[in-house]
Amino acid sequence: MSSIIQLLPDHVANQIAAGEVVQRPASVVKELLENAVDAKATDIKLIIKDAGKSLVQVIDNGVGMTVTDARLCFARHATSKIRQAEDLFSLGTKGFRGEALASIAAIAHMEMKTKQDQDELGTHIIIEGSKFVSQEVAVLPKGTSFAVKNLFFNIPARRNFLKSDTVEFRHVMDEFQRVALAHPNIHFSFYHNGSELYNLPAAGYRQRIVGIMSGKTNEKLVPVNEDTDIISIQGFVCKPEFAKKNRGEQFFFVNDRFIKSGYLHHAVMAAYDGLLKDGCQPSYFLYLQVPPNTIDINIHPTKTEIKFDDEQALYAILRASIKHSLGQFNVAPVLDFDRDANLDTPYHYKDVEAEVPTIQVDGTFNPFTDDKTNQHYSKAASGSTGYSSGSSFSSSSGSSSSRSSYAGYSRKVEPTASWESLYVGLDVENPESIESSPFTFENEEVTSSLFNDDEVEQATHKTYQIHKKYIVSPIKSGMIIVDQQRAHQRILYEQFLLNMTVNQASSQQLLFPLDLFYSSSEMKLIEELKPSLETTGFVFDNAQTDHVVISGIPVNITESEVSQVIEQLLSDLQDGIPANSYSQNDTIAKSMAKSLAVKTGSYLTEKEQDNLVNGLFACKDPNISPFQKPTFITMRVEDIDKKFAL
Ligand code: ADP
Ligand code: MG
Repeated sequence: MSSIIQLLPDHVANQIAAGEVVQRPASVVKELLENAVDAKATDIKLIIKDAGKSLVQVIDNGVGMTVTDARLCFARHATSKIRQAEDLFSLGTKGFRGEALASIAAIAHMEMKTKQDQDELGTHIIIEGSKFVSQEVAVLPKGTSFAVKNLFFNIPARRNFLKSDTVEFRHVMDEFQRVALAHPNIHFSFYHNGSELYNLPAAGYRQRIVGIMSGKTNEKLVPVNEDTDIISIQGFVCKPEFAKKNRGEQFFFVNDRFIKSGYLHHAVMAAYDGLLKDGCQPSYFLYLQVPPNTIDINIHPTKTEIKFDDEQALYAILRASIKHSLGQFNVAPVLDFDRDANLDTPYHYKDVEAEVPTIQVDGTFNPFTDDKTNQHYSKAASGSTGYSSGSSFSSSSGSSSSRSSYAGYSRKVEPTASWESLYVGLDVENPESIESSPFTFENEEVTSSLFNDDEVEQATHKTYQIHKKYIVSPIKSGMIIVDQQRAHQRILYEQFLLNMTVNQASSQQLLFPLDLFYSSSEMKLIEELKPSLETTGFVFDNAQTDHVVISGIPVNITESEVSQVIEQLLSDLQDGIPANSYSQNDTIAKSMAKSLAVKTGSYLTEKEQDNLVNGLFACKDPNISPFQKPTFITMRVEDIDKKFAL
């Protein structure tokens, strides 16, 4: 039998290797940007079209290449960055595999222009699917430009595998931000479909972070600085009160390379121990320098993971230095959420001797004279509940401010709304007086809309909250146990969905419009979501590159909940906005229901419990939460009997 093993032709081998290096346009962006950094450029321009699917171009003013290198750089394992395996332990560059250009050239149309400073003329090469199409001498500025067009043109399966432009753009943005954050001393600019997204002059770490994230970031940052034999740490962590629900802005750089490390992340979180609200994540931008021979960056093909020699020591140093910074910048006391600020001494009274009060006595005062002027207080007190009339029960989510406004509301209304109290003092001997009471009618109406198949024993209708989690209520056949959080999610979800599809949501005008700051990638999402958000009742006055002005909000949201709602939404949409409007609305309604629903652990007044059960059974689909979990269970009397029979 003849032998069957053959060496694969280079272009096939390159195509296969490309699978490892190039997953999507963002991979090309990363490789080209890193090459430009390695070429010691001080000015790097990134230009993309259609989220990088049609074009990724990187122009740098670095050292450029000779004619020979210009040709050689497309060969596999062609690199100028290491000569032997040992060099890996003293690596000072991003690249070292010599694979990127060969891989990209195998699966795209590529054009390269490069010139070294001392040369008169440069080299212009076109290569398509590993085949050299042309090579010319050209008049060029110093530096190198790579343009990569029609990615995966010869591998349709891979091209089809690419996600929507929104998703691919997000990946590109991530890569750009990582490289730009790692190298603040380089001037970066970034253009997408002809518009400039970033123009970041050379600066220090702080300015670069602020330039990339948003103007408001500056005041949130606390510097971290530590220098030891095995590691030096520079950078910033965010004050705990600005922690967010999502993990978007967390960056570690080791020797100027963005890395991911669950272990080091844990060290940061440990430093914040006790300072963060539940489920919140701090932003951080931490730049670690370690001797290159104490790390191995070679363990992951796309090189975002890293192995350290002495992880435990790094963990301890990182945690301690962040803790120290948070303490030093006096962040900790601000975080005492339970402390009553009213009890603090106002700043200007500090260190001032207390004055002995002087007492003035009105010798003519006689408490028994009938002086009407003393009575004005009662009216003022009853008018100051501070409740905003647009809200319904659904506005009373877990946030403390809205809960207290609701408490104000119930205090005011309870005497008439709580129907049991209507009977107090009524003449029970004379039942007509009850029947003629208008409130009796109201009570019947409520219960009948709640369980129209007469499941409720009206006279004993009552709800109880147990463990701040479930609402229990007797029904004719036994009892019903409602999960308060899921039930409220269902109610809100249907409300939002209805508003969005019927498109008649009313909104409350804000007296003082909210000005909210976001990173430019978040702003892009908000821009895209705007039409859908408007159907829920949001009114956007103005959206700039880094902030948005909101002048109206849906009626069932309070002002203080707005930023939380949008943040949750951005975090839920991190993997992209659904393509069709139906699922887009669905996602938004779900996300808003999730952030606004009353949480497990919240105490509900009797009226709130009642409204919740009412609201749930007025829903189209009361049985399950928007996240497909049961909202209530019932227990029949027989089931209970059985338990007692044991
Ligand atoms: P690596 O970066 O791992 O060496 P690449 O395939 O990315 O491999 O690049 C191959 C070689 O091409 C590099 O080692 C470098 O010498 C040269 N090169 C690539 N991009 C540039 C650039 N922008 N400027 C100058 N030289 C470059
Ligand atoms: Mg490279």
